[in-house]
Amino acid sequence: MNIAVVGTGYVGLVTGACFSEFGNHVVCVDNDSHKIDRLKRGELPIYEPGLDALVERNVKAGRLDFTTDLRAAVERTLVVFIAVGTPQGNDGRADLSFVREVARAVAEHLDSYKVVVTKSTVPAGTGTEIREIIQKYRKASHAFSVASNPEFLREGSAIEDFLRPNRIVIGCEDEMAAAIMKDLYRPLYLIETPVVLTDVVTAEVIKYASNAFLATKISFINEMADLCEKVGADVHDVARGMGLDQRIGRKFLHPGPGYGGSCFPKDTRAILELARDNDLPLKIVSAVIEVNDGRIGGALGKIRRAVGGSLKGSSVGLLGLTFKPNTDDLRESPAMAILDGMLTDGASVRAYDPIGMPIASQFPRSGVTYCEDEYQAASGVDVLVVATEWNQFRALDLDRLKAAMAKPVIVDLRNVYEPATMRAKGFQYGCVGRP
Ligand code: NAD
Repeated sequence: MNIAVVGTGYVGLVTGACFSEFGNHVVCVDNDSHKIDRLKRGELPIYEPGLDALVERNVKAGRLDFTTDLRAAVERTLVVFIAVGTPQGNDGRADLSFVREVARAVAEHLDSYKVVVTKSTVPAGTGTEIREIIQKYRKASHAFSVASNPEFLREGSAIEDFLRPNRIVIGCEDEMAAAIMKDLYRPLYLIETPVVLTDVVTAEVIKYASNAFLATKISFINEMADLCEKVGADVHDVARGMGLDQRIGRKFLHPGPGYGGSCFPKDTRAILELARDNDLPLKIVSAVIEVNDGRIGGALGKIRRAVGGSLKGSSVGLLGLTFKPNTDDLRESPAMAILDGMLTDGASVRAYDPIGMPIASQFPRSGVTYCEDEYQAASGVDVLVVATEWNQFRALDLDRLKAAMAKPVIVDLRNVYEPATMRAKGFQYGCVGRP
């Protein structure tokens, strides 16, 4: 099948590469010509484990191509995926301007029947709006279908998530589109991936409801971590004891500095606004956001207490900048918010991240030194803060680390280390929700 994927970011590029891996002919479109030039040269604009090999293989096989020319892409394809960003607007609602722009451009170049599919996370009703835009701007009365196929991949394990998903959600408005979408995902039927076939608006709601629920689990365990700190309990055992109950499940019960990234913060706000627009206050989601908003202040409080009350004039080592490991994505990263908070407090920061530093250093901040490795980041500092749980931080030489620091004080916001081990090594060790 010939397909176009518009938007070659974390979702669009992975979607395009994976569909080409299924044997389809895919053209990935972006209006960022710098991005497309890099892709054409064989360079990836994002860091995602395994994506370079996948892209290279499918480009060589002639199944994957990149262009800025939306018209050419639309004209030779049956299915057009919209995978552009839907960032948070000033009012908290999802900003659909990129989606609308693409829908209009697709309409203007519609030359035969197409299925126009949203991969982007879009509020309930967007499918209807896309239909109206295409009807308004198409040049001739070519038939088309609108579908919703929300994406659930996680950055850092995006390819595995796309090729072996827990489920596929397909929302369609007619039989023709459903048949085409099912055909596209046929390789995943072979590995018995469950498919939820529904209508467009329901598919749109499934995505927001899923993200809101995952965010709820995180805020819930973070509140339990606070309670554990008050009563002297261990939140890891609490999470395990809860999570082994299959009705609860073990995933997403890790306490820390709150959820971040390009999805949960904006998607929880967008579903709240969508509900408000429909005269429905979503009290649980509202509380989830409020709890999450308090996490950065809570983390900064822990760091201040660890150095005796004030960060002014302190030297801090910071391990991790990205919002989670195995990605270069800094969007809404708790680590970056903590970095900025410490700088505002008057600290100087020695930061290290395995992948995120080139992007972080594009936005100059005075008071930050980007370091070559973890030990350089620890050199001469009053406190070392672990803000992102990169695997390589788990096996550091603790004696070397301690020798490098001015004071052996660690605030581990990701519970990467064992409290007993750290104390035995002579560290003043703070973590989240553990005695
Ligand atoms: P991104 O910012 O990485 O990529 C978006 C791309 O769209 C950019 O390359 C941009 O240049 C391009 N673009 C914008 N307007 C365009 C236009 N008019 N024509 C062509 N290209 C255009 O975004 P992302 O992280 O890939 O997210 C895309 C969507 O997928 C969002 O709705 C997001 O909520 C959703 N989503 C993201 C993830 C994730 O982990 N990143 C997971 C699931 C769903």
